[in-house]
Amino acid sequence: MTPTMNQRLAAVRAISTESPHSGAPERTGTRARLPDLFGSLVFNDHVQRARLPKSVYAALRRTIDVGEALDPKIADAVANAMKDWAIEHGATHFSHWFQPMTGLSAQKHDSFLTQTSDGRAILEFSGKELIKGEPDASSFPSGGIRVTFEARGYTAWDPTSPAFLRRSANGSTLCIPTAFASWTGEALDMKTPLLRACEALSKQSVRILHLLGERDVSKVHVTCGVEQEYFLIERQLFVLRPDLVATGRSLFGAKPPKGQELEDHYFGAISQRVLSFMMDLENELWQLGIPIKTRHNEVAPSQFELAPIFEQVTVAADHNVLTMEVLKDVAERHGLTCLLAEKPFAGVNGSGKHNNYSLADDLGNNLLDPGHTPHDNLKFMVFLSAIVRAVDNHQDLLRASVATAGNDHRLGANEAPPAIVSIFVGAQLEDVILSLVEGRAPKSSTSGKELRLGVNTLPPLPRDQSDRNRTSPFAFTGNKFEFRAVGSSQSVAWPNTILNTIVAESLDWMSSEIEKRGGTGYRREVIQALVREIFAKHKRILFSGDNYSQEWVQEAERRGLFNLRDTPSALANVGSAANAALFDKFGVCNARELESRSNVLNQAYVHRLSVEALSMRDIAQTMIMPAAFQAQKRVADSIASVLAVNPQADMRTQREHLGQITDALNRLRPAIAELVKARHHAEEAKGSPNDVGRAFREEVVPAMVKVREQADLIESLVDDDLWPLPKYRELLFLH
Ligand code: ADP
Ligand code: MG
Repeated sequence: MTPTMNQRLAAVRAISTESPHSGAPERTGTRARLPDLFGSLVFNDHVQRARLPKSVYAALRRTIDVGEALDPKIADAVANAMKDWAIEHGATHFSHWFQPMTGLSAQKHDSFLTQTSDGRAILEFSGKELIKGEPDASSFPSGGIRVTFEARGYTAWDPTSPAFLRRSANGSTLCIPTAFASWTGEALDMKTPLLRACEALSKQSVRILHLLGERDVSKVHVTCGVEQEYFLIERQLFVLRPDLVATGRSLFGAKPPKGQELEDHYFGAISQRVLSFMMDLENELWQLGIPIKTRHNEVAPSQFELAPIFEQVTVAADHNVLTMEVLKDVAERHGLTCLLAEKPFAGVNGSGKHNNYSLADDLGNNLLDPGHTPHDNLKFMVFLSAIVRAVDNHQDLLRASVATAGNDHRLGANEAPPAIVSIFVGAQLEDVILSLVEGRAPKSSTSGKELRLGVNTLPPLPRDQSDRNRTSPFAFTGNKFEFRAVGSSQSVAWPNTILNTIVAESLDWMSSEIEKRGGTGYRREVIQALVREIFAKHKRILFSGDNYSQEWVQEAERRGLFNLRDTPSALANVGSAANAALFDKFGVCNARELESRSNVLNQAYVHRLSVEALSMRDIAQTMIMPAAFQAQKRVADSIASVLAVNPQADMRTQREHLGQITDALNRLRPAIAELVKARHHAEEAKGSPNDVGRAFREEVVPAMVKVREQADLIESLVDDDLWPLPKYRELLFLH
């Protein structure tokens, strides 16, 4: 009988013998020209102009560009053109594509099929079907807004985000980006509050620009570029790890001999296997009109990053959700699995999402561009101070916007931005700000002139960062801010909703102050004095040092900054009366909607930890313990066989090894029991969803750490050929 190889080793052998390109489509060498490819699956402006009657096109553009309400009369014409275009591209179905509060996309496909009385099929798509859908909302998270008997939900077409085709082997589906609300009109999705927050921010930005003398500006939009980090592992190994399958992250795994210490992966040459994946991915994303620009290896082994060119934030948010979906699909085609979890592997870097954020007016000016002239400088300082004030006043909200169970493994660990929110503006700009506050000449100013406050112009401002700070959670990078605490698997819609809301609040407050102080006729001195006051009051939020250091934790505490270390702490105050008033004032969420969001986030945390705890129990009991028993038996048999030949033999080595396995098992067993008990106890916790979350944080998380400790020790003791779970050295280094 041939010895059976365990599944893990069989998978490793298969990976080593298979050609690295197997499974990849035959695209190599036949890549279409990028300009032909780009946007070919999108019902974009170009297609709309070509296919819609002139008046319909003009009406649709007015809705998209200036936010005019959509004329329902044009819907039929748009629907018809969309359908014809989709069918020409192989579509049989359409789907309202939306983002419930899971942060993923949701879709229900309907075919264009209509039957005629004589039994034939024709394809139809009406304006009504385009504008409104009625999916059953009862199985989406609502955080208490909707009870099951009020199951109806509505999806409403969002014309500002273009429809697109999702292709699969046997056909295409027309996806129509929509907003999703309950029948009572309350938002149940990520999109609606973002759209509302964009409107609020635009209104307040225009208002202050008018006070700055820029009366031609009528709209301001948020620009956003999302850098996305991800891991790629062999699919054959992935399927042998029930923890990765169920939770997206490894709950077990002894530290490999080689991690990321050698720093040989970051920006390293991309392997052929991965490059072929990336090119396929880019082809697909480009066709969807997603402007992917960069690709590179990241810090951890098997970790990569891509970044698109920035777009309007609502489109960027949709595109990022779509990018995550396509990443997973294309990886699968290549025999790989894309892991988007924030911390799939202990001991190496986790993945984040850098949310690059700026504001642009409808004349094409970036409002965070320091500019050359004193006027631009002042405008820049106004928006900079508004953001500084917003971030300082609402550190906790910003922290809450990135609070998830997955991100808890990143924020605060020594690799990602800390849980303390602060702003890095660079030494030069910080000096300009402080000199303004202190009434002295800036050290770094190239003008060398004394800055007389209130009357003088500001000095030329640094355009490029002389230094880069990779440790800051919120960094100014030349002409935009980069919010780096966002989790890799998260939708950027919610963090940007919060950012827009708090910045709108700041701008509103500033405009009102300027008006109160009689600064309506573009009085520079009034505006400068206000900017100076804001910086004086909020400079504590600026920090350019090492955000990972222990000194910063202490310094931040002295400055009175929040340090919200985990999700339940970060989410505790989201629904407070003050926050409810803030969101309500700017029309972003009413109190019920905000509370529901807060509940959904707390519940998601609990569900995730619950699934992790149960996966851990199952894997420990059904895979790890049996492997250890087999290993014990082998050693015991070995002892018995040797003693049979030589009863006097010194069996110290075997006995010690056996003893170590036995001891670890004897610690593992009660640790599992503790975990099960902790989970049960936490689930029974009384109080709000946040209280339940806190119980999970306090009881379940430490119990999981204990189980893992013993299991990872056992991994290091058990015979390699008996170990069922692909090891870190295989997951991270085999491609
Ligand atoms: P880095 O890794 O140095 O941060 P990248 O080039 O990888 O730089 O990413 C920068 C991201 O910022 C890109 O997505 C880019 O399009 C985006 N970006 C550049 N300018 C703006 C802007 N004005 N507003 C929003 N995002 C921007
Ligand atoms: Mg970056």
